[in-house]
Amino acid sequence: MSGAKISYALDNNGNQISILNYYNFGSPSPIYCGGKGCGVLLNHVSEFKREGRNGTQYIPAHYRLAKGIDHVEHCIFKTSGNHSLGVDLSDQDVVSALRRGDDLFRIHIIDTDDQQKIHIKEDDFVNNPNINAIKKDYRAKGKKSTYVKTIQSLKEIYDFGLQNPLAQNKIQLMLNGEKRFWNDFFFSVAQYEELKQKIRGEGIVKAAVVGKVHVVRLASNSNPFEHIEFHPQKRRFSSDNYPIVKLTKSMNSNLFNFVSRVLFYGGFTIEANPNKLMITHAIGDEFRTIVSSESQVIEI
Ligand SMILES: [Zn+2]
Repeated sequence: MSGAKISYALDNNGNQISILNYYNFGSPSPIYCGGKGCGVLLNHVSEFKREGRNGTQYIPAHYRLAKGIDHVEHCIFKTSGNHSLGVDLSDQDVVSALRRGDDLFRIHIIDTDDQQKIHIKEDDFVNNPNINAIKKDYRAKGKKSTYVKTIQSLKEIYDFGLQNPLAQNKIQLMLNGEKRFWNDFFFSVAQYEELKQKIRGEGIVKAAVVGKVHVVRLASNSNPFEHIEFHPQKRRFSSDNYPIVKLTKSMNSNLFNFVSRVLFYGGFTIEANPNKLMITHAIGDEFRTIVSSESQVIEI
């Protein structure tokens, strides 16, 4: 159906709910267009990101018209022309794509960096809802490879590569406009050194790491964040390598069961401030990511 993205809505009690407050209001349903005298039924669309030819686009959460419904004639959110959402928001079947032999997948899982970018965009959107600029984001651009939107789908690609070693040099994951082979994206214990070197060479590296939970470090006076330390890659003649996950304050370490094996996705870096290191150099080297959402972690 036609119409621009809508930045605020009304609930059954007439509360005006901007997209920033939607979850605070307990995800109200039904919700209605906030345009003066309009009040037609809306749906809420969660934030997401999309890999395109020109890099990554961050699409903030928004409201849109419910199916088959249009605004009243004078509604400020009504626009001419048909600007249907050209993005398939449904979950695609990654397993069938793998079985068909598809070898390019776009990573759309939202990590901590993405969340920050999306929140900035949401603020812009609420303060300055430039409807024409926003609707341009939603044009379809031909056929695309399969989207990987959940950590569950990412795990399916990981498992497929383990079961089909030849696929490890064939399957590519696309993120931030860059394509990376399976074996340059998934890192389990034996590949920790490779990932560490890659981070040293490139700075932030988006990757999925497999690790076994070793130590859960609770928040303390000296460090207010919980950290998860994973079993290291032991190396005979040089430093052992430890993956570390820093949890944001909204995250609970219960997500990481002791000695369980987990796959986690994020942007990996090496902590530059020696006071913030979890592993002292005498014991080994660490590389780390920040986990701010359950969508970055899955037990395997
Ligand atoms: Zn309306």
